[in-house]
Amino acid sequence: MLKIKPFILLPSYQTNTWLVYDDETGDALFFDPAAIGTEPLEFIKEHNLKVHAIVITHGHGDHIGGLAYFKKHLDAPILIHEADADMLTDNKKNLSEYIGMPLELPSADRKLKDGDTITFGAHEGKVLHTPGHTKGSIGVLIDKFLISGDTLFEMSIGRTDFPGGSYEEIINSIKTKFFTLDEDTIVYPGHGPRTSIGMEKLNNPFVR
Ligand SMILES: [Zn+2]
Ligand SMILES: [Zn+2]
Repeated sequence: MLKIKPFILLPSYQTNTWLVYDDETGDALFFDPAAIGTEPLEFIKEHNLKVHAIVITHGHGDHIGGLAYFKKHLDAPILIHEADADMLTDNKKNLSEYIGMPLELPSADRKLKDGDTITFGAHEGKVLHTPGHTKGSIGVLIDKFLISGDTLFEMSIGRTDFPGGSYEEIINSIKTKFFTLDEDTIVYPGHGPRTSIGMEKLNNPFVR
């Protein structure tokens, strides 16, 4: 059965690092390693998981700070949308320079496009390109789990005032890529609590 586990590796930003895994086969995907930390590694070891990829929902510093550390320890490729790929190695673009914690990160192993598939064991994640928060923001749909990055939050949406952001685009992305999914799809955002597509279609004040 597919399970999902959150880690908070960067408490000052409350970024959600999500681990999606099959508790029978051990196949797993790891999303947005916000900072270094031993807790995910211990969990992965304890549950005998095999992480097939480290998937980045978008290139902001608060989602990628632990990338070098986890790539080394998990020996897994780094996947990010092609439009955000250069943010990994550009500390102006990933904003880390401005918050006084410049990063030194590996580059992408695979650049994603809309509609791409991320395979882990018998499971598949489907890449949904959702520009607006950044040019290369993505959501990843795995069965009824949607990893939504900083595009859609509980009762809110991502900021669009950073470079590459667009209010029109984020609204369009949410309407066309997320709100067309089944209403019982559970949304696991980049910050804050989980929600569902049905709840957000009813209640989200930004998307009508
Ligand atoms: Zn962001
Ligand atoms: Zn964020």
